[in-house]
Amino acid sequence: MAKIMAVNAGSSSIKFQLLDMPEEKVITSGVMERIGLAEGIFTLKYNGKKEETHPVLPTHKEGVELLLKTLIEKGIVKSLDEITGVGHRVVQGGEYFKDSCLVDDTVIAKIQELADLAPLHNPAHIIGIKAFQAALPNVPQVVVFDTVFHQTMPEEAYMYATPYEWYTKYGIRKYGAHGTSHKYVSQRAAELIGKPLEETKTIVCHLGNGASISAVDGGKCKDTSMGLTPLEGIPMGTRSGNLDPTVVSYICEKENKTAAEVVNILNKKSGYLGMSGRSNDARDVTAGMNAGDHRCKLTFDVQAKRIVDYIAAYYVYMGGCDVIAFTAGMGENLKHLRKNIIDRLGVLGVKLDEKLNDTFSDERIISTPDSKIQVWIIPTNEEVMIARDTVRIANIK
Ligand code: ADP
Repeated sequence: MAKIMAVNAGSSSIKFQLLDMPEEKVITSGVMERIGLAEGIFTLKYNGKKEETHPVLPTHKEGVELLLKTLIEKGIVKSLDEITGVGHRVVQGGEYFKDSCLVDDTVIAKIQELADLAPLHNPAHIIGIKAFQAALPNVPQVVVFDTVFHQTMPEEAYMYATPYEWYTKYGIRKYGAHGTSHKYVSQRAAELIGKPLEETKTIVCHLGNGASISAVDGGKCKDTSMGLTPLEGIPMGTRSGNLDPTVVSYICEKENKTAAEVVNILNKKSGYLGMSGRSNDARDVTAGMNAGDHRCKLTFDVQAKRIVDYIAAYYVYMGGCDVIAFTAGMGENLKHLRKNIIDRLGVLGVKLDEKLNDTFSDERIISTPDSKIQVWIIPTNEEVMIARDTVRIANIK
């Protein structure tokens, strides 16, 4: 039996999950936040308990050291030798990485080089990788890229109609994001409807604070809504999604801002937050809508409309669809948004079972038996995909 640590390191945080493989059982999970600040937050879940402490975590290195020490102190592992592999989520792998891979100096250098496309994420991942390398020098470290799953997109789907040299010189194209989630959900969707993956067409709606849709045909991504960066696609918590790029130069002129400042607003102050004027959190916007606030209602309607635009396009692009799957915070929990979306798909013969949509439970079908496309809620599980890839790539028995 192998214990694999799945890691998602951010600039000031480390999320982790320790899994028993191949059983895929979670032994412990948690997060270290506010690394580098005066007081950190360390949340640890194990044995049905959740504990929060407030250690000082000057850097990721101290965070990882404390995490490993705590695993032993709490009896979660008897010895660190039990951890046979560490898998790291990496947001951007560009065109260079077509699969997960073992970490070495060249891989780290490449992840650093690709930081231009993911300035907040890739450098933070490297800090996380180095911290685990230092703490567990004899344990294989594997990197699992969010972009890999989207590398199967055909050229016609990933190319922008911009000067071709922008692609050859600077790599300007669609890379997509949330690939590990889209892969997990599409594989699980095929299992749930009892069809071989190779014959299953799935539209995955990953609707969290960041949100993306993908068309998965026979287990391979054919198209996805996020682009060069996660700004493209549907409106999200704080991101605008698609718009006419002229908006950028227009606002630059009107408000005397640089392009980078306006793009920052499109990333951080738009979407749910910008439209509703209340919050990026769908729960607050729902409360506003229920209290009769027009802008809150409009926020959901705009997003639902745009999501349906993608679903319709992907339905046609794949030549049909067997399953529409909802995942992530909003996809799993926001029943009124799911209804708003599915009710617009009547022309495709999709029918929502409102009772099932309203019932709270985890993985479940929410379409009626006569619906032409099955609709499922499938909670995503990126950690399990990271652990699976770590076992596969590091050849852990
Ligand atoms: P990310 O991982 O991209 O930060 P999540 O997948 O956690 O995002 O999703 C966050 C979104 O999900 C927020 O808008 C939040 O309001 C919504 N959400 C989470 N839980 C619930 C819930 N129980 N009911 C309604 N919305 C929820």
